[in-house]
Amino acid sequence: MRPRFCTPDVPKSSSCLKRVQDRDALRFFHRQVSSESVDCEVRKLLDLVPPCFYVPLLCLRLASSSPSVVIENRRYNTTTVREPLLPFFGLLILAVASNPCLLHTHYVFNRASLDAVVVGSGPNGLAAAIVLAQAGRSVRVYEAQSTIGGGMRSAALTEPGFIHDVCSTVHALALVSPFLKTLPLASHGVQFAHPQAPFAHPLDDGTAVIAERSVEATAKALGPDANAYKKLFQPFVSASDRLMDAILRPIGFHHPFLLAAFGISAIRSATSLAQSQFSSERTRALFAGAAAHSMLPLSSLATAGFAMGLMISAHSVGWPVVTGGSQNLADALAAHLRSLGGEIVTATRIESLAQLPPSRAILCDLTPRQLLKIAAQRLPTAYRNGLQAYRYGPGVFKIDFALRAPVPWRAPECARAGTVHIGGTLAEIADSERAANDGRIHDKPYVLLVQPSLFDSTRAPAGLHTLWAYCHVPNGCTADMSAPVERQIERFAPGFRDCVISRHVMFPADLERHNANIVGGDIGGGAATIGQWFTRPVVRLDPYSTPIPGLYLCSSSTPPGIGVHGMCGFYAARSALRHSLR
Ligand SMILES: Cc1cc2nc3c(=O)[nH]c(=O)nc-3n(C[C@H](O)[C@H](O)[C@H](O)COP(=O)(O)OP(=O)(O)OC[C@H]3O[C@@H](n4cnc5c(N)ncnc54)[C@H](O)[C@@H]3O)c2cc1C
Repeated sequence: MRPRFCTPDVPKSSSCLKRVQDRDALRFFHRQVSSESVDCEVRKLLDLVPPCFYVPLLCLRLASSSPSVVIENRRYNTTTVREPLLPFFGLLILAVASNPCLLHTHYVFNRASLDAVVVGSGPNGLAAAIVLAQAGRSVRVYEAQSTIGGGMRSAALTEPGFIHDVCSTVHALALVSPFLKTLPLASHGVQFAHPQAPFAHPLDDGTAVIAERSVEATAKALGPDANAYKKLFQPFVSASDRLMDAILRPIGFHHPFLLAAFGISAIRSATSLAQSQFSSERTRALFAGAAAHSMLPLSSLATAGFAMGLMISAHSVGWPVVTGGSQNLADALAAHLRSLGGEIVTATRIESLAQLPPSRAILCDLTPRQLLKIAAQRLPTAYRNGLQAYRYGPGVFKIDFALRAPVPWRAPECARAGTVHIGGTLAEIADSERAANDGRIHDKPYVLLVQPSLFDSTRAPAGLHTLWAYCHVPNGCTADMSAPVERQIERFAPGFRDCVISRHVMFPADLERHNANIVGGDIGGGAATIGQWFTRPVVRLDPYSTPIPGLYLCSSSTPPGIGVHGMCGFYAARSALRHSLR
């Protein structure tokens, strides 16, 4: 007789199960104790007994083979049923309880009706579900909100007829993503609208530095830094497919020479790289504006890498927006998932793993704080402590605007760019980002601004426009930054306020209410410090796995982190396919 737990539903990665799988002792134990008098549910428990309990359980089972005995006590007029199997059941429960991990594995995975469940429908959750469905596994996604998409949702936040992206708008990472670019997104209706220039950086003298699509054209306007700029970027732009494949993944040795060449500059702080490579304040400011996307002090290690990665993507694929709003990207991913047989259930917040239907694998598009909420009791202490020590970065204070006219930039070339970095010089931007990380409010914050309707006319009624702007603030900050943000825009676009029809403000807490993953307003799923970059969320050989067999993390709190690229989900699903879903 084959032991019951050898059914294909049991995760084969479980080393404990493997160890005991072929033991003759276990087969013998099963044959002896699984008599008809032991009902089906109890027999399932026998699969979970650690080997050290076989002998005592077997002895008890053999000793209790007599039927139940009814003892009458005439003096007190009572009857007692002496059940010989009771000591056996007592020890059986003790044995099973001594191994809660196996108990969970058995009950969740052995009775699986689905191969996998994904919690959360952000780009990573949907990417993970697609990878699993492509491999022929049954998968269901549970989403807390009534709409899907996580950081890719759009909504009419201000006036009717205005489409605003609640979170992401600029989708360079979707275009460079080794996984997303393989999907038939166009056939599900996704179109990218490309601004003429990826981003602009206005300065106080009324001019602006522009990151153009080509390295050559950008460098041409950088005067004394033209050669240094070309030397820094051109080799990586020419190899951008291989470079993105090497950096949008867990740490490893893919394309080692290219990675090493990139790493020499990327590991540096943005401040040190900009000051050593460029002599002009204009070029330094351009670099600082891109580096500040990291939400780290610009003196932190590897902030140069953040800027370089984004600028390489600007030159290789551009910084486009999705026509009609980012929600169309989410809907296309969902449509593709459904076409592969996947299911999506919305408006269902998962509060505990016990709420989920049985499945062989669970992939959580959640940050460590939510994982602790839904699985804490099951997580071993060391891993739990690791998750608790995970650091979140500064928050974001965001304003969406409905405008009656385009922004009146003093440097008109800013209107050629989809994204505008506002904050002046490198020193000013560094000061603002330092403040957000030190828990201080800055009255001249670095502002990241996106003006999608200039390139996508479907975003607003004819002649009208949408725009969002956000600044970094301390995590969970409750200060109203509307005035400082608008002052900064006015600084480079006098008369901006007169263009505003209405505005929609989101404090960090509002963003977190919209999406529980945005903890304290941190849009990156955790600080992108060098210590947490490749080892997020906890140091493990396989960062997507957890100590619970079959339970995985697949959000931007795993490598390669922030952005709409789906690569965290892709690699988490690959890990699940290698182990629990083989
Ligand atoms: C304001 C803002 C602007 C941004 N701009 C850009 C940009 O321009 N370009 C870019 O590439 N990136 C941008 N980002 C970052 C990008 O949105 C995120 O990095 C990305 O969405 C992370 O994807 P994810 O799948 O890991 O998680 P998320 O997109 O956060 O998705 C997580 C999902 O899980 C759901 N969820 C949470 N808890 C539960 C639960 N208990 N049960 C069920 N469901 C749950 C949430 O509702 C959400 O739908 C921006 C983010 C913000 C907030």
